[in-house]
Amino acid sequence: MKIDTKCVQVGYEPKNGEPRVLPIAQSTTFVYDSAETMGKLFDLEAEGCFYTRLANPTLNTVANKIAALEGGVGAMLTASGQAASLISITNIAKAGDHIIASAAIYGGTFNLFNKTLRDLGIAFDFVSPVITAEELDKMFKPNTKAVFIETVTNPSLDVVDIEMFAKVAHAHHVPLIVDNTFATPINCRPFEWGADIVVHSTSKYMDGHAVALGGVVVDSGNFDWTSGDFPMLTTPDETYHGVVYTDQFGKAAYITKCCTHLMRDFGAQQSPQNAFLLNLGLDTLALRMARHCSNAQTAAEFLENHDKVESVNYPGLKSNQYYDIAKKYMPNGSCGVISVCLKGGKEGAVRFMEGLKLAKIVIHVADARTCVLHPASTTHRQLTDQQLIEAGIAPNMVRLSVGIEDPEDIIADLKQALEQV
Ligand SMILES: *Cc1c(COP(=O)(O)O)cnc(C)c1O
Repeated sequence: MKIDTKCVQVGYEPKNGEPRVLPIAQSTTFVYDSAETMGKLFDLEAEGCFYTRLANPTLNTVANKIAALEGGVGAMLTASGQAASLISITNIAKAGDHIIASAAIYGGTFNLFNKTLRDLGIAFDFVSPVITAEELDKMFKPNTKAVFIETVTNPSLDVVDIEMFAKVAHAHHVPLIVDNTFATPINCRPFEWGADIVVHSTSKYMDGHAVALGGVVVDSGNFDWTSGDFPMLTTPDETYHGVVYTDQFGKAAYITKCCTHLMRDFGAQQSPQNAFLLNLGLDTLALRMARHCSNAQTAAEFLENHDKVESVNYPGLKSNQYYDIAKKYMPNGSCGVISVCLKGGKEGAVRFMEGLKLAKIVIHVADARTCVLHPASTTHRQLTDQQLIEAGIAPNMVRLSVGIEDPEDIIADLKQALEQV
């Protein structure tokens, strides 16, 4: 099946007389006729749902669809993208371990790593998204457990050389984890370039309607955990009567441990209702991504040629430093997000935003409706102009998330707002 067919056909397969559309199993618990059957579930000797924190039929079905879209062996839904990133790391790293992460990652992920996980004893080194293989090679330590990058970064729109990161990580027997939120599996499938684990905030394009918070962890099944460096997967887990994940679950060892161990303990489960909404979003993901990308390309080209605009950052522009690498990893387009710097400084940016009519000011990106955000006066408002520049956020920069409206209406809105700058 091609990927757009998978979006609508994979995951839920109703049997005779069952509902055509994925039902919501809105139940915390499940019935069994004997204590023995239930005991087998508890010992991971049989498959089945007994409590929604650990497994639920609606969640399993949607997770399987996303695993199929990414080309992985299994996936686990989470309550949010943040929970997916948290679990992707803590599934294989504990106090005393070390992680290498790109410095160009979502701000929430940066805080999680640089503050919360550091406080829990996991060390982090942040590297440039354009680091060379030689420089990256030098960052590894005997206790390095993973490398974490983002395909197209939010909000700086850096495009990362996934293949290079995977090769260097693998030379050190370390897995590569990729946050693929902005590209989605429609535009880029990191496993095809050597990545081992993928995470998403499904709150963005996958949901697509800005209705349901969620996340997902996907396992490629390709990483060999048996080098001796990942005892959490290769030695007995006493909380499951001594199960050894790599022995019992083979290629699905990592994702099985995510579901049975970390979700059991952290409890960051997605609700069945949200998984149902996410599945509706996935049905149209391929159609929407194509439209987001073509609309963003049109808007970026329009903005680049406008005399009120200082610069435009979009990987689809020939002038962009990531144009070639974006063509390699995302030949059909990267995402619908553009960042644009206005002439007239911070005030120019604010005037532009406030002049927009169709595009609304919201703290969100990557949904069907065009929206804008001014990082300097919202998410980063505590910083001075000088600190903003140091953080890579120009005071006159606006992040524009291009929706799926008719491109002529989007351009007309940008045009009339620019006239007010
Ligand atoms: C939004 C976002 C997250 C966090 O996801 P939530 O669902 O908001 O928790 C992580 N990574 C990227 C790239 C994001 O855009």
